[in-house]
Amino acid sequence: MEKLSNPQKTIEVIKKHGFDFQKKFGQNFLIDEHVLDKIISAAEITKEDFVLEIGPGIGTMTQRLAEAAREVAAVEIDRNLIPILQETLAEHDNVTIINKDVLKLDIAELAREKNGGRPIKVVANLPYYITTPIIMSLFESGVPLSSITVMVQKEVALRMQAQPGTKDYGALSLAVQYYAEPYLAANVPQNCFIPRPNVGSAVIRLARYAEPPVHVKDEKLMFRLIRASFNQRRKTLLNGLKNSPELSFSREEILEALARAGLPENVRGETLTLEQFAALADVFADMQI
Ligand code: SAM
Repeated sequence: MEKLSNPQKTIEVIKKHGFDFQKKFGQNFLIDEHVLDKIISAAEITKEDFVLEIGPGIGTMTQRLAEAAREVAAVEIDRNLIPILQETLAEHDNVTIINKDVLKLDIAELAREKNGGRPIKVVANLPYYITTPIIMSLFESGVPLSSITVMVQKEVALRMQAQPGTKDYGALSLAVQYYAEPYLAANVPQNCFIPRPNVGSAVIRLARYAEPPVHVKDEKLMFRLIRASFNQRRKTLLNGLKNSPELSFSREEILEALARAGLPENVRGETLTLEQFAALADVFADMQI
């Protein structure tokens, strides 16, 4: 079958099936061969790999994944796309199409069944409003994972890979960088999609660390500190922690912890590295005992 990255082919398939784009599912289909090349090469897919594709649409990227990988499972929420996928992927016998909301899919079970529990690669071009929850739930749930290569809103990609002291640095940067090494693979302009989205996009690969880059006694406490310090970005860390509904440390306890962690009283959360947040969390954890 002719490649769906050819815009004429995409339009032909959509018309043939009388497909209506659903805004609620964030449907913008890729129509650029070079972007597909970049996604496939960033994801570093080999014939050994089992790939989970989230949101295949009409199968544009799935066709390429099927050629590159050993096996692909493509999870699509919109049942109107299933007959289209069956047609566009008919030549590939290594693709399983699953009609389901990925948020309700047992991905660990899928990894067990299809990949013997070994780490899987995830590739996705998703609606932007569910991208961050899906990425975080993949990391936090402990699904065996090698990498996630995902198309995101450009601003989100910049936040994921931001370093301390920059305007994009925040809770998302620290959450992502605790679990994975980010690599910005491509910027993707609006005209690479049908229909054209309102914002620019980027492809980012998040390569899962076997071990987190920092060891912390109480991971949950560290993330509470991180959220508290970025909730009130313009305030000092002291005030951010004091005002957080998730924490109940007194001003004196916070001052003591900052001193023990070697941080000045007026330090701002946005300047702290992951290592410094981990060290501070360990001081608080010791004080709670
Ligand atoms: N991958 C295709 C491409 O690049 O052309 C389609 C990308 S489109 C931005 C997002 C796709 O994700 C749509 O096909 C949409 O129906 C699907 N989708 C949205 N929410 C989903 C969910 N919760 N679970 C599975 N698929 C979802």
